[in-house]
Amino acid sequence: MKVSFVDLGAEQLEIGDAIRDAMNAVVENTQFILGPAVEGFELAFARFCGTDHCVGVSNGTEALKLVLEALEIGAGDEVIVPANTFAATALAVCAVGARPKLVDCDPESHLIDTGAIEAALSDKTRVLLPVHLYGRMVDLDALRGLGLPIVEDAAQAHGAERGGLRAGAGGIAGCFSFYPSKNLGAYGDGGAVVTSDSGLADTLRSLRNYGQVAKYDHQRIGYNARLDALQAAVLHVKLSELDAGNRRRRAAAAFYSQHLAVELPRPGTVGVFHLYTIRVRDRDRLRKQLDEVGIETGVHYPIPLHLQGCFRDLGYSKGDFPNAERAAEEVLALPMYPQISEEQLAYVVEHVNRLAEAP
Ligand SMILES: *Cc1c(COP(=O)(O)O)cnc(C)c1O
Repeated sequence: MKVSFVDLGAEQLEIGDAIRDAMNAVVENTQFILGPAVEGFELAFARFCGTDHCVGVSNGTEALKLVLEALEIGAGDEVIVPANTFAATALAVCAVGARPKLVDCDPESHLIDTGAIEAALSDKTRVLLPVHLYGRMVDLDALRGLGLPIVEDAAQAHGAERGGLRAGAGGIAGCFSFYPSKNLGAYGDGGAVVTSDSGLADTLRSLRNYGQVAKYDHQRIGYNARLDALQAAVLHVKLSELDAGNRRRRAAAAFYSQHLAVELPRPGTVGVFHLYTIRVRDRDRLRKQLDEVGIETGVHYPIPLHLQGCFRDLGYSKGDFPNAERAAEEVLALPMYPQISEEQLAYVVEHVNRLAEAP
């Protein structure tokens, strides 16, 4: 048997025709830049997240960067970022000239350790940038008392909910990526910011569109960073399947959690299982053995941010964030996508239980 890590082909078998129809509609109306396809998706995604506005942008990294820029974060400012995340979270902070201030992760959930944030604050800290990693929601209530604006990196958490709020709706802005393998993925690059702050939404609309406030009226130095109309059309179709897809992911995760004999995701964690991760000793050996029996896995992420070459100027060294370092050695992500079958899940479980050693 072959079990891929994600299977976008399986999704196409279900909704490929509807996606092709939506793309054809854009081809026929020829409104390729902004226009009704982008506006239609933005309205629907804002409603889905429970915010007043959605601004479609070119990708998730740009979503983070534009929000930080709109909040006037720049040189001399610090932004709190988890050490255990995809590099783009911190790259966006560097892109506006600010400094990512890293915080270790919780040893069980692998999300930012909310109890360790306070010690990382300084008089330069301007924004908290928590990441809902793997589709698990950070407890934003634990951050609210710190008195700083919260920008959520929700790039792995489309549709996740905690305390009655959806990912993206809990702070001043939520940033999403629509990279193809995300829970809501385009057929190329895409991203969005959701917010209920009208002024922030206006600034973002201008920044993504050459800094214009009206055609040929450029009030700020802006960019070309718009969500593509064809991608918006794809995303609008796929958005209607997102809640169902997240339910199917949760059902697959429940099967794994019930049958796997290795260390499991922290019980009670609310999430949408962008990734289903386990912790094992000798992870790279297990990964290779699973590959030999046709099971594709992922490692998210093998190098924590403080040990990445691109961030060496931040002055961190090995041992600074032990939980993130341990996660980088032990975490393994198992195949996970809405269409994964019970046979495939059982096959993965059988081989993981046979081959894995507990950490
Ligand atoms: C995917 C991802 C991003 C970046 O999104 P792109 O669309 O690839 O630029 C940022 N943060 C996290 C946590 C991600 O998973």
